[in-house]
Amino acid sequence: MNPSAEAPSPTPSDFIRDVVAADVQAQRYPKIITRFPPEPNGYLHIGHAKSICLNFGIAREFGGTCHLRMDDTNPTKEDVEYVDSIQADVNWLISGFANDHLGLKPKGKKPETQTVNGKTDFHLGAVPVGTPEVEPFYASDYFDQIYQYAVALIRLGKAYVCDMTPEQTDEYRRLGKASPFRDRSIEENLDLFERMKAGEFADGTHTLRAKITVDAPNIWLRDPLIYRIRHAEHHHTGAKWCIYPMYDFAHCLEDYIEGITHSICTLEFEVHRPLYDWILEALELPRPLPHQYEFARLSLSYTVMSKRKLMQLVREGYVSGWDDPRMPTISGIRRRGVPARALRDFAYNIGITKYDGLTEVGVLDHAIRDDLNHVAHRKLAVLRPIKVVLTNLDENYAEELDAVNNPEDPNAGTRKVPFTRELYIESEDFREVPPPKYFRLRPGGEVRLKYGYIIKCEEVVKDAEGNIAELRCTVDLTTKRGGPNEGRKVKGTIHWVSAKHAIDAEVRLYDRLFTVPEPDAEGDFKAHLNPNSLEVITAKCEPSLAQATPEERYQFERLAYFALDKESAPGKLVFNRTITLKDTWAKEAKK
Ligand code: ATP
Ligand code: MG
Repeated sequence: MNPSAEAPSPTPSDFIRDVVAADVQAQRYPKIITRFPPEPNGYLHIGHAKSICLNFGIAREFGGTCHLRMDDTNPTKEDVEYVDSIQADVNWLISGFANDHLGLKPKGKKPETQTVNGKTDFHLGAVPVGTPEVEPFYASDYFDQIYQYAVALIRLGKAYVCDMTPEQTDEYRRLGKASPFRDRSIEENLDLFERMKAGEFADGTHTLRAKITVDAPNIWLRDPLIYRIRHAEHHHTGAKWCIYPMYDFAHCLEDYIEGITHSICTLEFEVHRPLYDWILEALELPRPLPHQYEFARLSLSYTVMSKRKLMQLVREGYVSGWDDPRMPTISGIRRRGVPARALRDFAYNIGITKYDGLTEVGVLDHAIRDDLNHVAHRKLAVLRPIKVVLTNLDENYAEELDAVNNPEDPNAGTRKVPFTRELYIESEDFREVPPPKYFRLRPGGEVRLKYGYIIKCEEVVKDAEGNIAELRCTVDLTTKRGGPNEGRKVKGTIHWVSAKHAIDAEVRLYDRLFTVPEPDAEGDFKAHLNPNSLEVITAKCEPSLAQATPEERYQFERLAYFALDKESAPGKLVFNRTITLKDTWAKEAKK
């Protein structure tokens, strides 16, 4: 549960891995091949991360490969922007963990036709070692083969062209009635399907349907559509096709062509599984068949997960883009500063089950804090400064104090922080009229400065409007570590920075995007957007943060974890708050 920076991720066990282990034991396949098949119509979200960790995790644990496949059989507007972002997100999430098991193919490689036991078969073939240029698999690369499989199904008398409208077809299937076109001859079906392909018919006038059953209890088996006419351009194949395979027909054949062994998807496809098996078996295919397994999709509290809704947030300007750090997208989570390892640990911790449920976002937060606690360098930064003047020091007093970089990591070492007569402290760390149990600074009270001395507040100086202008304090220089009074105890320790040395940074304080656990439970999910999900302030930071890098993670002591944003530039630091140190929402819930 507490992997240090170097510890390998844990190896989980669940019912799908049990199946794979049994198949490996029985030597059912020469190699385990899984796939992650996103539709390139949006950015990947944390639900996809669960699927990626499962599929690449299995490939890694069992010495197999996981194909990254663009599931682009829909002739809708799919975009290269999405294809690129999907690749980037997958690479980031699995880098150093399973990238040896990332299945890509030589650029431009198409399925090969081979003859197995006297049967024509399509197979993508082995990927040559050392292939210079690789790309993901594309489902649309198999349109020719999928078409030929459809023709084969017609020849076997197991598919027919139906002339009913989509509405009539739905109605007949619902009622369990046979289509009047069900008993067309094979020749007529072949001819009509050929003409469908040639573009002779308008959208919606004809479909190709599998001839399975008219009235099975499972409605998906009632002569399902396997091809429909769509006179639409496809982003990969252009105007070549005006008929497109339906998901159920295409997906199992894509799996078969690629030699997938375990095709893992979410629970809503469970009712489609008999169809998945029927198609592959009906075609009497010569190679080992893939099998489908289903698990519960991830739903996370305080966010929405469907690409359609995330798209709305982007298009309507509720967030700055798909990678806005408040978004549940992988790119947003990454930009917020969450390490890939934390996301993988989260995916492992929630486990793989067969029951849908809502996962508390607190589980994700815990994984992030746990990881960052081990890797983040501690820094001193003041988000809402008030000035402290140490009146018993010289104007030019200057000293460097030793600060520990990471108490969780003895190898992280120490650094120097400048200490001078004028400091900034957090305005929250001073109360003129302190509430009970307030152990920080108050008039006449004492507090210890982190890595430094005990100071005492002697005087509160106000401006003309009555706001606090500065706190005039005295410092006890005997209380430093190694000093004669280092052991003198005061109840509070606060963070601070030297006013003269402090550097300014823009700090973006992100919070949950929604105020309720299930924003899409009822009504318009956008009505539950958190109006305070982003606050931008200018913080005073210790000077070493001028060397901050995008790879490092920082804990601003006593505040939160931060990471440099991509909009940062030399001389203009921008930090994103990844997560607070404690769960501030737990307090809210108790109020
Ligand atoms: P959405 O409904 O958010 O648009 P989708 O299911 O249409 O998602 P795909 O691109 O088709 O998105 O999904 C690719 C893979 O990721 C599929 O195998 C799907 O089962 C899986 N997946 C999608 N959403 C989740 C989720 N919330 N939890 C786990 N796996 C998911
Ligand atoms: Mg989908």
